[in-house]
Amino acid sequence: MLLPRLPDPVAPAQHEIAASYIGRLARLHGLDVNALWRCVTEREASGGMRRLVVPERLAAITGRTVHALAGALPELRTPQPDWAMFRHQPQPGCHHCDAKHLGGEVIRILPHHRYVCTRHRLWLCPSDADGHTTPLDTLPEIVQAQHRHLRVLRRHGWAITYDAVLTAILICAQLWSLPENENGEARHDWVRRASILIPSNAAESAFSVARLCAAVYPEAVALAPLFASPYWKQQAQKATWDRRLFNSEIARRLRHPNYNRKDHDNDPISYWANMNAKRPPLAPIRVHDQNHHLRKPALSPATRLAQQHRARAFDPSRRAGEALVAHRYLATVFRRAWDPMRKHKLLPNGDGYYSR
Ligand SMILES: [Zn+2]
Repeated sequence: MLLPRLPDPVAPAQHEIAASYIGRLARLHGLDVNALWRCVTEREASGGMRRLVVPERLAAITGRTVHALAGALPELRTPQPDWAMFRHQPQPGCHHCDAKHLGGEVIRILPHHRYVCTRHRLWLCPSDADGHTTPLDTLPEIVQAQHRHLRVLRRHGWAITYDAVLTAILICAQLWSLPENENGEARHDWVRRASILIPSNAAESAFSVARLCAAVYPEAVALAPLFASPYWKQQAQKATWDRRLFNSEIARRLRHPNYNRKDHDNDPISYWANMNAKRPPLAPIRVHDQNHHLRKPALSPATRLAQQHRARAFDPSRRAGEALVAHRYLATVFRRAWDPMRKHKLLPNGDGYYSR
């Protein structure tokens, strides 16, 4: 099939999904999106109903090489990328970065380690409140934590870093859920950041678990190297009476001078040290299935309703970590989480949270 080249073949954005790029090309040229989609796709060879993008056709209409297109669009790569390295659902990125990409909304499939646009200081954690972007102008420590996160990634690779950072976010959320005198100085920063990100006079519109994740991110990234490093994992596996070095490092990173847990039931870090420090990193339990197209997820009415309930009950100074602990974003590490949670038999429900 000979395809005419489009007059304004804009470039794809990095990690953009094919449907988003083809949609932008169609809108820019006043074409029907479905017609252009059919033009650059063909039925899968197995005889199924799904249509697959033909890289050579997209190259023909844009005048760009297949190699250049595949560099930006992970779905066009041969062989397919290791999808476990990416979040399983696409999402909007930084709207400042996207402004230079014409033709409407840019939807990307981001790697696990991308939490902040450091250039424009925006939080990019998987959002459960669609359309929301979270500026971090007054919270520079969250932007700095992204740089620190990338250093952990360079040192330990994506799989160990993924496990260590999610484990650390879950542990911070669990600490935030403990009574006030048990969770150290960091708690004051979590409350302060949460009050900025989710102001009490706008909780219903601003509440999202992604923002609670931002509130604990600096301490999570400070703890993560301890959960990633073979040396610190070895220190953590020592007998509880012989963990002084590990405990004092935790105390320093959490700014918790009294942190000196022995084998405390309520301490998620002791639980990790006793049970999980010796285990290999967990792989994501939800990975994009390449037998389906990548599409921007929509919030279900049930999830919206659950969000509204949580927003009304939200108070950053009272066990605010509980919503974060139970959110599906942490499901991979939640499954091996500490005993008290399992005793309560927390089970996933339809809106993405866990319920008793
Ligand atoms: Zn940006």
